[in-house]
Amino acid sequence: MTTIPNLIAGLSVAPAAAVYADVFNPSRGEVIARVPLSGATEVEAAVQAARKAFATWGTMPVTKRASVLFRYKQLLDQNFDALARLVTRENGKTLDEARGDVRRGIEVVDFACGIAHLQKGESLPQVAEQIDAVTMREPLGVCAGIAPFNFPAMVPMWMFPIAIACGNAFILKPSEKVPLTANRLAELFAEAGLPEGVFNVVHGGREVVDALCIHPGIAAISFVGSSRIAKHVYSLGCAHGKRVQAAGGAKNVLLVMPDAEPEATLRAILGSAFGCAGQRCMAGSVLMGVGAKTADEWRERVGGALARMKIDDTSANDSAEMGPVIDGAAQSRIAQTIGSAAAVGAEIAYNGAARVPTKGFFVGPTLLDHVTPTSGLFQDEIFGPVLSMVRPKSLDEAIATMNSLGYGNGATLFSASGAAARQFTREIQCGMLGINIGVPAPMALFSFSGWNDSFFGDLHVQGIEGVMFYTRQKVVLSRWDKDYVRSQGW
Ligand code: NAD
Repeated sequence: MTTIPNLIAGLSVAPAAAVYADVFNPSRGEVIARVPLSGATEVEAAVQAARKAFATWGTMPVTKRASVLFRYKQLLDQNFDALARLVTRENGKTLDEARGDVRRGIEVVDFACGIAHLQKGESLPQVAEQIDAVTMREPLGVCAGIAPFNFPAMVPMWMFPIAIACGNAFILKPSEKVPLTANRLAELFAEAGLPEGVFNVVHGGREVVDALCIHPGIAAISFVGSSRIAKHVYSLGCAHGKRVQAAGGAKNVLLVMPDAEPEATLRAILGSAFGCAGQRCMAGSVLMGVGAKTADEWRERVGGALARMKIDDTSANDSAEMGPVIDGAAQSRIAQTIGSAAAVGAEIAYNGAARVPTKGFFVGPTLLDHVTPTSGLFQDEIFGPVLSMVRPKSLDEAIATMNSLGYGNGATLFSASGAAARQFTREIQCGMLGINIGVPAPMALFSFSGWNDSFFGDLHVQGIEGVMFYTRQKVVLSRWDKDYVRSQGW
């Protein structure tokens, strides 16, 4: 049995208290490794290592820092396939989805390679008589990141490449359910020439998270996970004087107008709702066909396609179209939600339960119809392969219903009408919108812009907001008096 070490100051370190959790291959329900549940002692050691490393990394010329990122990017490309297979093995998503997970992460490294340009300040000579103004963006010190299970590569890479490129040292606490990818990402960064202690990985759960949030040596915390824990991390981190960005859960609607292009829209709906077995914070988990005829047509199309979907062990079958959910607890929770749908007035339009492998944590793809907007099926995140249909009569009604959600990550509209698209874009109250795009997740150049209960903080992850989050600004005003020079007779 592989025991996964913490990575502190360039060394593999076992935790002081020998408490471990099992790591599964969700496709088979088999234990593949065990991960330490570390605590405050390991966090302390990581902070000390990071602080020491920051003293030199934080003052190193930016072009030298960038050159390590360029080498890292090359190594990630060379190891692309192996990383994707690792993601599939510990998370259960299909190989194609795992490739997307790793590719999206590498795009952040690409972005961070341009740090010399991104971190430049502004200047304005003669802002007042003989006074010049210059701004500079400086790293914060030691930053920490706490990640969820659903994107073992991409989500940690929303955080550490930008933080480290800016000159910070970093401590990553990956999800204890998917620790293998995180260690591999750290090993490759070390191989690229990153000095020891700049990037540390401490494994564990709640204890590590709370120790990071309260440690006085940590300047900033990035969190991605469920809204309940996001709120907890945001309040605990802020109460301890830290800068915090905390992305939470979501409920995203796919709104289909009668004039939507059928084939591309169907592909987009299936990918959005059932890709990664519905375990994406940008998953389209509600389908709204505007008008009864549109809803009837889409119920038929989606149900038909689900009956043909290939659901299989993703670690053995590279062409599986849908894999398992993360663990037995998620599997039972989602099955229970489906089982109680009728009690809240919904109808099961398609249930794929009979078509899934018996080993592993599989849930059949499910389509629920006549879901009422006040029920938990609409309001709460299910985080599984379940698509709920709500039937609005008009675009106005659809928008009002969507705006009743507490979350605010994404929404998408499928239509050939510019006027419908414009109204949708203007009136929807959430941060990431798609027009004829199933998963409107912004690429690395843009920030991941959740609103409402999907985000707590001010500056989002990724993109230029990521650079601003991991740096603080200094404004320098200089007055050099030419009369003084003259008075000296020079
Ligand atoms: P989670 O909230 O259970 O766990 C996230 C992290 O918090 C993990 O590292 C975990 O160890 C830690 N944690 C768990 N319980 C804790 C507690 N009681 N106290 C302190 N820390 C704790 O989330 P998950 O199940 O790993 O991931 C799925 C969730 O993440 C979904 O809600 C999904 O929408 C969300 N998510 C959001 C985004 C986004 O950008 N908004 C992206 C990916 C995932």
